[in-house]
Amino acid sequence: MSKDMMRAFELYQPDSVDNAVELLDRFGSESWALAGGNDTLDWFKDRAKFASSVVDLSGIEALRGIRETDDGIEIGALTSLTDIETSVLIQERYSVLSDAARRVASPQIRNTGTIGGNVCQDARCWYYRYGVDCYRAGGTTCYADTPEGQNREHCLWGADRCVAVSPSDTAPALVVLDAEMVIQNAEGERVVSAEEFFIGPEVDIERMTVLEPGDLLTAIRIPNDWAGAQFYFEKVADRNSWDFALVNIASAMVLEGGTIARIRMAAGAVECVPRRLNVVEEVVTGSAPDEATAALAGQAAVRGAAPLNYNHFKIPLLENLVKRAIRG
Ligand SMILES: Cc1cc2nc3c(=O)[nH]c(=O)nc-3n(C[C@H](O)[C@H](O)[C@H](O)COP(=O)(O)OP(=O)(O)OC[C@H]3O[C@@H](n4cnc5c(N)ncnc54)[C@H](O)[C@@H]3O)c2cc1C
Repeated sequence: MSKDMMRAFELYQPDSVDNAVELLDRFGSESWALAGGNDTLDWFKDRAKFASSVVDLSGIEALRGIRETDDGIEIGALTSLTDIETSVLIQERYSVLSDAARRVASPQIRNTGTIGGNVCQDARCWYYRYGVDCYRAGGTTCYADTPEGQNREHCLWGADRCVAVSPSDTAPALVVLDAEMVIQNAEGERVVSAEEFFIGPEVDIERMTVLEPGDLLTAIRIPNDWAGAQFYFEKVADRNSWDFALVNIASAMVLEGGTIARIRMAAGAVECVPRRLNVVEEVVTGSAPDEATAALAGQAAVRGAAPLNYNHFKIPLLENLVKRAIRG
C-alpha cells in the first residue's frame, strides 16, 4: 500500500511563532504544521493526505523546552518525547507524564517525535490510514465496524459512525494532570483544558482535536495542583518494543490518613478521546486504596462498555488496569 513517494509541496521554515501563525493563516486548510514528521510523513508517503504548504516548526526555538512557571511548568509543543521522558523536573513532580512518554514507540521515534505532535497525531485505524473512503475520510462507511471488519484495536465507547480510538500515550497523562493547551492563531491566543482539547466523532468526525486550520499548539501548561501526587501509568500493547496501546491507564491520587482524598484517572485507546473515568473517581474517593476499593473501581470503569466484534478482551483488560492503578 505504501507508495513511498511524496507529492511535491511548498516548504516554509519560519523561525518565530508569529511567522508560523502568519503562514498557517495565509494558507488555511491548504497548510500543514510539521513537527517531528513521524505521523505527517506516513500520510504524505502513502499519498492518503496531502497539503500544498508545509510549515516546518523545527526552527522555532521558542517552541522547545520545559520551563518552571509561578503555577507549575510549561512545556513547549516542540519538546521531544525523549526530553520529557528524561526531564528531572517532570520525573520529580509529574512522573505519570515521563512514564507515559517513555512508553511511546521506540527511542528513535521519541527522539524526533514531539509532545505537540503526539497529542495532535491522527487516528491509527488501519482502514483510514490506508486511504479508503471511510466516514473519517469523508466517505459513508466505517469499514472497521462491519461483520468482517478488523476492530480489535477499536473503541468500547463513543462510536459514532467512526470507531477509531485516541492513539496517544501522553494524552491520558495530560488529562489526569489537568493540563492546559495553549493555542495560537491569527486572532490571538486561547487556552483549552486537555480534557476539552480532544474531540470525538460526534463533534467532528474529521478531526481529533479542537485545532482548526490556522491554529498552532504552542505549549502545554501543567499546574501545581497534582505535583508530587501518587501516580500510576501502565500501557498494554501487543509488543513491548514499539506498538500502540491496546489500553493504557493514567492516574493521580492524593492520600490523606490512608484514604483517597483526591483522584483523577483516564484511559487511552478505549474511545476516540482519552476517557476520563469520573465514575471511578467518585466511587473511590474517601476509601482506602485496598483490594475491595480496587474491585469496585474496576467494575465501575467498564460499566456501559459497548464492544465491537473483536475487542471484547479490552473490557477485562481495562478493569484490571484500573484495579492496579488503585492498588498502585
Ligand atoms: C511506528 C510508530 C509507532 C508509534 N507508536 C506510538 C505509541 O506507541 N504511542 C504513541 O503515543 N504514539 C506513537 N507514535 C506516534 C509518535 O509518537 C509521534 O508522537 C507522533 O506520530 C507525532 O509526533 P511528531 O512530532 O512526529 O509530529 P508530526 O508527524 O510532525 O505531526 C503530527 C500531527 O500533529 C500536527 N502538529 C504537530 N505539532 C503541532 C503543533 N505544534 N500545532 C498544531 N499541530 C501540530 C501535525 O500537523 C500533524 O497533523 C508512533 C509513531 C510511529 C511512526
